[in-house]
Amino acid sequence: MSNDNIGRDVLAFLTGNLLDPTPLNYRFGYLYLTRSSKVICHETDTYIENGMRMKQETIVEIMGKHASASDDPEERIAARDEAVEMFLNAAGELARETKRQADGVGRDIAEESQVIQEGAEGEDLKGAIRRIVDRAAQAERELSTASSQIDRLQRDLEEARNKALVDELTGIPNRRATRATIQDLEIRKVRYCTAIIDIDHFKAINDTYGHPVGDRALRLVAESLREALAPWPVGRWGGEEFLVVAETPDAQRVSEKVQIAKDALADRNLKLRETDEPMGAITFSAGVAANYETSEETLRRADNALYEAKKTGRNKVLIAPDTGRVADAA
Ligand code: GH3
Ligand code: MG
Ligand code: MG
Repeated sequence: MSNDNIGRDVLAFLTGNLLDPTPLNYRFGYLYLTRSSKVICHETDTYIENGMRMKQETIVEIMGKHASASDDPEERIAARDEAVEMFLNAAGELARETKRQADGVGRDIAEESQVIQEGAEGEDLKGAIRRIVDRAAQAERELSTASSQIDRLQRDLEEARNKALVDELTGIPNRRATRATIQDLEIRKVRYCTAIIDIDHFKAINDTYGHPVGDRALRLVAESLREALAPWPVGRWGGEEFLVVAETPDAQRVSEKVQIAKDALADRNLKLRETDEPMGAITFSAGVAANYETSEETLRRADNALYEAKKTGRNKVLIAPDTGRVADAA
């Protein structure tokens, strides 16, 4: 299957199976059609060969198996996504239940009102009014329980979403979120560039000043990059590596902006809190590549350019050579 059509193919696959285009389903379809997960391929092939339609529960189950079969922590995080889907389902169920209760109250009150309208008097009238008041009070209690349950679900949901997408140390998007950004551009067939940024001699910072100072340095670099490269998102790609995803085909422009970010970082002086002793400039090396046929290839090229930058003295930004550009050949 050509990478070009994968976005459309996934959507067609979902539509053909009467599946909603949710993020979970989309990921499922993508992994299946690109044959990138053994578990998903095996399970789904079995379904399709037997002429069965993929149901939503089946997908959730298969994605669960896929996540637990994987050694890749990224994939295990995907399992958390399923937890998010579950929350959504639970919230939906709660909302439906609340509506059922509200309908029930309406019915009960209508029945009592009927009694009153039919001219109930004395004790009958008092009884009907009392029941209406009681029923309304009960409904109010039920509603307030339901709404605090919904509030809790919403908080949990937000927390789960945050954990799945944000790097804990630096507060910027994590690798998973950054990958999703790239995948989204691939699907929309937008041309883009990536820049891999790797701090120079970072190990020396840890060795000289200790790990907590290293952590502070990482936060400083993340903040500085985020500011200098906005609106392009910067994610934490790994340890002391960051990835910029720039929605432009112009690698030269990206390289220039990363260079500016490098100068801006060098201007910031990280002082040691205890002694106020300045720590010296933090520099980085970076490799920039315009998008190629697959995102893996794009990243590989950016990584090669980064390697070249390291090898030839560090503290510089290099662009991957532009040979064999797919988009140009097309
Ligand atoms: P180079 O210029 O070749 O990139 O050298 P380097 O020292 O930056 O690269 P190397 O890969 O040798 O070391 C990276 C270091 O980053 C090692 C690791 O302990 C440190 N590191 C990775 N993640 C964290 C983190 O979250 N906090 C801290 N303090 N250090 C980290
Ligand atoms: Mg590194
Ligand atoms: Mg490094």
